[in-house]
Amino acid sequence: YDIDPHLHPSNWSSHWQKLKEQEAFTFESIHFTKEGENLPVEVTVNYLEFEQQEYNCAIVRDIRERKQAEAKLKEANQKLQYLATIDGLTQIANRRSFDEYLEQEWLKMSHSKQPLSLILCDVDYFKKYNDYYGHQAGDDCLKQVAYTINNSIKRPGDLAARYGGEEFAIILPNTNLDGAVCVAQRIQQTIKELELVHSVSEVAQYITLSMGIFSTIPRPELSPSSLITKVDLALYQAKKAGRDRYFVYEEEV
Ligand code: GH3
Ligand code: MG
Ligand code: MG
Repeated sequence: YDIDPHLHPSNWSSHWQKLKEQEAFTFESIHFTKEGENLPVEVTVNYLEFEQQEYNCAIVRDIRERKQAEAKLKEANQKLQYLATIDGLTQIANRRSFDEYLEQEWLKMSHSKQPLSLILCDVDYFKKYNDYYGHQAGDDCLKQVAYTINNSIKRPGDLAARYGGEEFAIILPNTNLDGAVCVAQRIQQTIKELELVHSVSEVAQYITLSMGIFSTIPRPELSPSSLITKVDLALYQAKKAGRDRYFVYEEEV
């Protein structure tokens, strides 16, 4: 333990015991260089008997490079994980996160018999916006809409995601229809207050959203896609009824 400050004398006896039992083992530790820097090492110890004497024969390997490579790999993995779940343009959850989370919450809510609500939002006359203001302005607009929607949800379990081009979806676990309508109204209000000028919209002078809402207590025999079909139908109704509004899909009993 002259060279291993972590192998405290009090640990020495347990080290010996382990060594006698296993005869050889490898572990990682930190040593110090002469300059006093931390030096990650891999230590392989072997038990030896020679002329009635017991020896702890150790090979100490400098693993700085390996540790650095591991740290880089970890960082790269975290970045990849981020890229796989976040939408590049709007920086909110992407479609993949949405699908995974919906599946998960569907199961959870069906077990606990709690309501699950879904809101699907679509920017009104967005093709016209792009045609008139250009694609770059369209992108900037989507970023602001996404940011606003994401800020309109308050509970830790809520998730707002970019569902597709100019469509956003919000998953609200443990939330009944009243709660979902409340969130939809809040989104509508905050988007309105943004006053993103859309002079070629046929419904208002600013950017507006149409929304479909559906709330249900999930049944395990149904799939989350049935939820999407219904919320999509509700969105279609909101569009048909004149846009800049929400529509609730009423489940027949
Ligand atoms: P509606 O009111 O019926 O929703 O009409 P709309 O024009 O919004 O709908 P439509 O589906 O015809 O057009 C959607 C447009 O959204 C098409 C495309 O120009 C635009 N869009 C989709 N994704 C993006 C994007 O990532 N960036 C930009 N700038 N535009 C996008
Ligand atoms: Mg659309
Ligand atoms: Mg649209």
